[in-house]
Amino acid sequence: MDALGDVAHTLDLPRKQVRKLLDRFRVTRGKDFRLKDRDPADTAGHLITPEQAHHLLAAGTDRLAALQEKLAAQDRWSVLCVFQAIDAAGKDGTIKHVMSGVNPAGVQVTSFKVPGPEELAHDFLWRSTRALPGRGRIGIFNRSHYEEVLVVRVHPEILAGQRLPHELVGKKIWDHRLRAIAGFERYLARQGTIVLKFFLHLSREEQKRRFLARLDEPDKHWKFSAADLAERDHWDAYQAAYQAAIAATAAPWAPWFVVPADHKWFTRLIVSAALIEALDRLDLRMPPPDAAAEAALAAARAKLEAEP
Ligand code: AMP
Ligand code: MG
Repeated sequence: MDALGDVAHTLDLPRKQVRKLLDRFRVTRGKDFRLKDRDPADTAGHLITPEQAHHLLAAGTDRLAALQEKLAAQDRWSVLCVFQAIDAAGKDGTIKHVMSGVNPAGVQVTSFKVPGPEELAHDFLWRSTRALPGRGRIGIFNRSHYEEVLVVRVHPEILAGQRLPHELVGKKIWDHRLRAIAGFERYLARQGTIVLKFFLHLSREEQKRRFLARLDEPDKHWKFSAADLAERDHWDAYQAAYQAAIAATAAPWAPWFVVPADHKWFTRLIVSAALIEALDRLDLRMPPPDAAAEAALAAARAKLEAEP
């Protein structure tokens, strides 16, 4: 935020400009997608001025709060936001910031950890299904079913612990899982769930800087885990797994946003703008009261006014 200076006046961005900005990071088809070509430090300077970015960030939380209220009142659509990233990319901070103005009653955040015994006793989509947002609600997945083609792919010993029947574990298992995920998301979209997926794309150098900052500042020690450092040794394997996952599951009805994560303010800006754009497109309206509801309201008023 500091880099943006202190801009007091408000600037409204035309929808077209916001769409252009988001299109730069939105992936809706896997063919030709190359993670290697994406710059984690990108801030799209030619598409948005620092003043506009500052305004968009500041206005975003209010705008989202208003849209979420309508989403709940209309009670038709659900929104599912999936967040995936390597460690220290800023998932938690982004979720906290972007949702900060929204009514907590309308939002649910699910953080997916290492699966426990009950989860391991089921198919891999089981726990995601149970955590899906109902109509009118926004669901945030902090990690998700994608871990099954990321951390599990990078560490074959995790797969071995999943107790799948031997004859079902072959070379095609990742392809099968990716297809299952793509099918799952297509199904959700057809059921009225807006699926948005965010990959917070951090550079190796910036991860090192953030890890060191966690070590330097006592207030950040709780965020540091030695396991994160061990995962860093598998950097290339993770990048390859993300490349494959995004390429196999990007679709117009379940887009990926490959969000540059080296600058936190920019990450937040893109996530917030993507959510707002998606809700905006629904053209949400407060439901008009029908005749019966109007009559009930009039009766309620009469009753209250008749009280001594
Ligand atoms: P954190 O998000 O830092 O609390 O860490 C959660 C940990 O759980 C990460 O190391 C994830 O890789 C791990 N995790 C999440 N989902 C799965 C899964 N399906 N299989 C194995 N590990 C997982
Ligand atoms: Mg962690």
